[in-house]
Amino acid sequence: MSADVIIIGGGVIGTACAYFLARRGVKVLLLERNHLGSGASGATAAIVSISGTSGTPEALRRLNIESYHLILDIEQDFDQPLEVIQGGALYAAMNEQEARGIRPAYEEVCEMGIDAQWMKGSEARHFEPLLGPNVEAAFYNPASYHVNPFRLYEGYLNAALRRGSRIEYGVQVREVKLKDDAIDRIITNKGDYHADWVVLAGGVHTPEILSPLEIEIPIVPARGQVILTEACSVKTEHIISFLDHLYIKQTASGNFYLGSHTEFVGFENRITLEKIANFAQVLAYGVPLLARLRALRFFVGFRPICEDNLPIIGPLPACSKLVIASGHGRTGVRYSASTGKAVSELIVDGKTEHPIDAFRVERFTK
Ligand SMILES: Cc1cc2nc3c(=O)[nH]c(=O)nc-3n(C[C@H](O)[C@H](O)[C@H](O)COP(=O)(O)OP(=O)(O)OC[C@H]3O[C@@H](n4cnc5c(N)ncnc54)[C@H](O)[C@@H]3O)c2cc1C
Repeated sequence: MSADVIIIGGGVIGTACAYFLARRGVKVLLLERNHLGSGASGATAAIVSISGTSGTPEALRRLNIESYHLILDIEQDFDQPLEVIQGGALYAAMNEQEARGIRPAYEEVCEMGIDAQWMKGSEARHFEPLLGPNVEAAFYNPASYHVNPFRLYEGYLNAALRRGSRIEYGVQVREVKLKDDAIDRIITNKGDYHADWVVLAGGVHTPEILSPLEIEIPIVPARGQVILTEACSVKTEHIISFLDHLYIKQTASGNFYLGSHTEFVGFENRITLEKIANFAQVLAYGVPLLARLRALRFFVGFRPICEDNLPIIGPLPACSKLVIASGHGRTGVRYSASTGKAVSELIVDGKTEHPIDAFRVERFTK
């Protein structure tokens, strides 16, 4: 089997790359060992915000702003709506110490030119009646929305398939063989494949695909446990966040999605009562309604987190036609569109509209 570009991995990053490449007329074949969204992308909250800290590199801010707008724009090209809920995000503090803790994030968002609002507890409760009586303060970031993640990666994929791309399931890539600066072949459980270019978007499994080449990249799995509640007739369009990245969002069908600590426990995929009970309690303290809802499902996902919390986007030094697009950590949905666009520019134009030097793998490899 052959194609211009073979993409390894059917998560939100691999499908976004397929979409943007297909838009440029490239013949793409996507290989997925399991099913679409079977990695982190099937467990995600799919929140897309413009935010950052004083340490956020300029290149990442640009990727963030570009992707935020691109996702909303390309929905027009998808065969079903993304169920965008564009109500902004409310960051709540439950005491004075927490209020001091969220203040820098508020100031940072304001410095980015976003019209954020700081509120006392009573103002926050008026703004979002689901908040409980113990909220001390909150800030509101209007530059935040969430989507249905299943529709996002299916949307990317279907729009790529419509333009002549293909996907094969049950194909596990074992190794990418190189010959000088070229791709020799892609060895899989279903035989060998051939392509001029390979995009490696295997999420937490990207390091193991590179290991036969004796290339080590520091992407590790960071477990997130999730609770999904029954649908509720009381509605909110706000994402409501608390300390430690704990948050809720309500899906278009009314279910609440509750997430999630960041746990470094390797590929241990058990649901643990300790964590679930802990974050359910924190969230129900902030939003008392949650305590009365029935939990429908518990599940876990593994965020592909890179050592320096930046994604890896760019070619391998040993082979300019093997491009890595992985390690997006807690924010892979947020950066999916701009990553796909950058990868397509790299392959089609040989350069990207916005600089991606900060994301190159050379920062880890010698
Ligand atoms: C609980 C949780 C909440 C999150 N919330 C948010 C959020 O609100 N906003 C946000 O922006 N991000 C969020 N994230 C992070 C985001 O989901 C991830 O960064 C993103 O999904 C990573 O996408 P990916 O395509 O790189 O990896 P994945 O989705 O893991 O996809 C990789 C794919 O590659 C396939 N694969 C792996 N190895 C091989 C192989 N050898 N051969 C063939 N196929 C292979 C896998 O089967 C998988 O389907 C969250 C993540 C979790 C777990």
